[in-house]
Amino acid sequence: MFVITGPSGVGKGTLIRGLRERIPELELSTSATTRPPRPGERDGVDYYFLSDAQFDRLLAQGAFIEHATYSGNRYGTLRSELERRLERGVPVVLEIEVQGARQVRETMPDAQTVFIAPPSQEALRARLIGRGTDAAAQVDERLRTAARELESSAEFGHVVVNDRLEEATERLAELVGRALQAQAERDRRS
Ligand code: 5GP
Repeated sequence: MFVITGPSGVGKGTLIRGLRERIPELELSTSATTRPPRPGERDGVDYYFLSDAQFDRLLAQGAFIEHATYSGNRYGTLRSELERRLERGVPVVLEIEVQGARQVRETMPDAQTVFIAPPSQEALRARLIGRGTDAAAQVDERLRTAARELESSAEFGHVVVNDRLEEATERLAELVGRALQAQAERDRRS
């Protein structure tokens, strides 16, 4: 299992798309959130869009591997998204923020964690504004959170700086490819 974390706007989603083109067997876990859908986002594809009450119900049932509140909304990884894949030996990628990545690191120490860092704070601001999905107040809030998140990059197994997309994708794919090979080798021996 691979956990890709890092600040909002750093390009985690784009990098993961590139990663899955290079390593098609990787599957992306669909998260649950209480954030309203953005234009074009589809329920069950981009996220499972839930009410607060639905989220609470799942939380009480122990349905989440990890969960966090981010910019006033809740996000969580459903146990079912992972288990049905890991049971079949299918490698899974999570794209989550830092608090959730920490929880996964504690509860699933075998997970490979990768922190994606921006080349600079300015680059991150430009990206968050440029993608046009968040109102100005939300961009500021996300940047404040990003500054805190950046301080924690060293906690994670690997750091990839998203300076040039192609090169960063290549570095990420190399790292994931190596981990998959090592796992295959362990499986062969056991
Ligand atoms: P957005 O609202 O931009 O889709 O996501 C906001 C942040 O929440 C991003 O950093 C994204 O990676 C993170 N996120 C998405 N799904 C999950 C999840 O299941 N758990 C956690 N902890 N964070 C998530």
